[in-house]
Amino acid sequence: MSETNPKLRAALDGIPAYTPGRPAAGGTVSYKLSSNENPYPPLPGVLESVASSAHALNRYPDMACTALTAALAERFGVPASHVATGTGSVGVAQQLLQSTSGPGDEVIYAWRSFEAYPIITRISGATPVEVPLTPGEDHDLDAMAAAITDRTRMILVCNPNNPTGNAIPREELERFLDRVPPEILVVLDEAYTEFVRDPHVPNGLELYRDRPNVCVLRTFSKAYGLAGLRVGFAVAHEPVAAALRKTAVPFGVSQLAQNAAIASLGSEDALLERVDAIVAERARVQDELVAQGWQLPVSQANFVWLRLGGRTVEFAELCEQAGVVVRPFAGEGVRVSIGETEANDLFLKAAADFRRG
Ligand code: PMP
Repeated sequence: MSETNPKLRAALDGIPAYTPGRPAAGGTVSYKLSSNENPYPPLPGVLESVASSAHALNRYPDMACTALTAALAERFGVPASHVATGTGSVGVAQQLLQSTSGPGDEVIYAWRSFEAYPIITRISGATPVEVPLTPGEDHDLDAMAAAITDRTRMILVCNPNNPTGNAIPREELERFLDRVPPEILVVLDEAYTEFVRDPHVPNGLELYRDRPNVCVLRTFSKAYGLAGLRVGFAVAHEPVAAALRKTAVPFGVSQLAQNAAIASLGSEDALLERVDAIVAERARVQDELVAQGWQLPVSQANFVWLRLGGRTVEFAELCEQAGVVVRPFAGEGVRVSIGETEANDLFLKAAADFRRG
């Protein structure tokens, strides 16, 4: 056999692997609070829709996601030509990078933020420009604006931010958008928007309308509870939405996913009930942590963030022994998804035990 390997792009060297949240171990009681998943099963009508679509698995799905696109356009009051679907919002984010950025170009995002950003940026060949969060864990929008150069092609703004959970108020975000030159695409990643309760945090769909360079990214994976089906979408003005249609993996969104997403959109009342219950649990968890003496950002998402620095891994291990798997970012902190009440209770007890030493 030849010793020579196929030549691979140098851009791939050193790309960090995406670390998925670890599953719960099973056996003894153990809960997975490591991937910001929805603890509730799929919404009413979803399983029936999936089951009734399953007989056609020998067929390709509707490549254009026509019915889902129409349902999204109607639900969010936007033209269908502004909606582009993809294999999860991370798939759509990757298409946005393919559409805007390549070698020599720069992509700005806050750090720490969603861990896929550096990976998909580097896969595109572009250079990541990571702007540290403020000491209060907020996006440093002044520093992000100052980081713009004539090589900047795309800016990712995660609102609320993963993993810190806090969100940018409307005025601040608008002021930032006003400073970004119109030829640079700004992606508002709103994967957790349904969990926002702070009235000062904007709905990106209101910001995109008058700004051709703003694109909103949404997902069915979190509030809608369809993480396993891989479907997300962007709302963007036509040139960007058209670029997303060009860069889509053909037939990437399965028919099961399309039909389940449509069924989910039809179950808004049940969706709201579940999201409200998660938000109530989030408030309970936050209040209890504060009562225990922790300092943490006010989360607008379905998780909380504890900046534990050098004690991150130790804390994650303690949680695991207590029956909850959390998501450590070694040396930085731990992100803990809001899950079932029993899971949240186990986490709170572990947090209290940790403080007692
Ligand atoms: N954006 C953010 C901020 C996320 O946290 C996630 C999921 N962890 C995603 C996008 C991607 O979600 P999905 O691909 O499942 O839509």
